[in-house]
Amino acid sequence: MTINSFIPPQRTLMGPGPSDIYPQVLHALSRQTIGHLDPLFIGMMDELKSLLKYAFQTENEFTVAISAPGSAGMEACFVNLVEPGDKILVCRNGVFGERMRENVVRCGGQAIVIDDEWGSPVSIDKVEQAIHQHPDAKIIAFVHAETSTGALSDAQAIGALAKQHNMLTIVDAVTSLGGVPLRVDEWQLDAVYSGSQKCLSCVPGLSPVTFSQAAVDVIQSRRAPVQSWFLDQSLVLGYWSGEGKRSYHHTAPVNSLYALHESLVMLKNEGLENTWQRHREMHNLLAEGLEDLGLTFVVDADSRLPQLNAVFLPEDLDDGAIRNQLLTEYNLEIGSGLGALAGKAWRIGLMGYGARKENVALCLKALENVLKG
Ligand SMILES: *Cc1c(COP(=O)(O)O)cnc(C)c1O
Repeated sequence: MTINSFIPPQRTLMGPGPSDIYPQVLHALSRQTIGHLDPLFIGMMDELKSLLKYAFQTENEFTVAISAPGSAGMEACFVNLVEPGDKILVCRNGVFGERMRENVVRCGGQAIVIDDEWGSPVSIDKVEQAIHQHPDAKIIAFVHAETSTGALSDAQAIGALAKQHNMLTIVDAVTSLGGVPLRVDEWQLDAVYSGSQKCLSCVPGLSPVTFSQAAVDVIQSRRAPVQSWFLDQSLVLGYWSGEGKRSYHHTAPVNSLYALHESLVMLKNEGLENTWQRHREMHNLLAEGLEDLGLTFVVDADSRLPQLNAVFLPEDLDDGAIRNQLLTEYNLEIGSGLGALAGKAWRIGLMGYGARKENVALCLKALENVLKG
């Protein structure tokens, strides 16, 4: 059997990620590979750090991209900050909150779960109550933008509560970074992780993270070394600190980092505020069209994520068949429901480069046609 080159079709990606990649980012990816300790590459990494600080709105020195997807960023935050016996408050209003809980348990921590309905934001009242019941908790972990439901939670309010009670925060910003306001320093967030393939419209496989000084202090005063060698941030720190201090930790994914650099240059050139505004405008257009088609949102208007639109399927429609028709006839990918929403909802992403008028128009037209039957 001969196996030929793999040539993917030209799809439009409007699911929960990966999102459509900026053409400039794909070009950056195909540039010549250079050594990861080459002085020019190290200079690029230093620029990348400053671009990431801009994206996160932070001055945190420890702001880097982990060489693995968002899930590794999640794991890096937990394995570095949680030690056996630590009590951690975990907000769970969808799939990714549950993953946080699993991480706590695997680190030997005690997870105190604060549950909210799928589709609702994290309840600030419940967080406050949990803090009063468990004043000895070390960390509050929550998902800023819950991609499984499309709900946005109030990271600023949770960050403020955590600081008032001397607790750290671990924040999942995989889908929020670049799509909705996220101000790490102003909101006093401690360990925040994201992903390259959602609103940054970069290739999958990198996880931007940032750690506050308070989080770094906790990492540096651990009782025992982190059980994961690869994700031990005290080792990674040496690798990302420039000015001749760079030492080998692992081989950087050189070309993927070119791509991330390029996508962050695009973010910076557009301006964060403009990017947030664009996501909001495209969401408004899409939402209007979806409502005209008779589709209803899973999340109430005031906590909807512009970049992830979850809508209920019309009654007795075959979810898989419709999504397959969109893919084969329109080269359009939308997401299925996850967990409690499997088979009941679609998730339509407007992330980064995907948040454009032509994508909104394509999606609405295609849905209209397939729903007519
Ligand atoms: C996509 C996603 C992740 C996981 O990121 P991967 O890059 O798929 O590992 C984690 N949290 C949220 C909220 C996500 O949307």
